[in-house]
Amino acid sequence: MDYKDLTKEELKICPVCGYDDLPEVPYDSYGFPTYVICPCCGYEFGFDDESKGISFSEYRDNWISNGFRFFIKKKKPKVWGEAEMQRQLDNVKKVNYKSRIL
Ligand SMILES: [Zn+2]
Repeated sequence: MDYKDLTKEELKICPVCGYDDLPEVPYDSYGFPTYVICPCCGYEFGFDDESKGISFSEYRDNWISNGFRFFIKKKKPKVWGEAEMQRQLDNVKKVNYKSRIL
């Protein structure tokens, strides 16, 4: 899947955790990271990938095993548990692209 082919709605989906309302797209039209931080999993596009070398799947696995905590607490849904997290993860299949460098 190519990042350029994603729709505007799909670009708002976090490829790590499936959260679907990112405040900014992760990469611009040239493929450069926007340094947006996912309110849910806390992945920072441009930092966690390019500077720290952590892939989406690696970060996702850690996030889940550490209790899938919501990064920005005021954005956390009233009901947030394993079932909700699993449902949200289904969104990842829609945006199954790799980071520019990983
Ligand atoms: Zn996320």
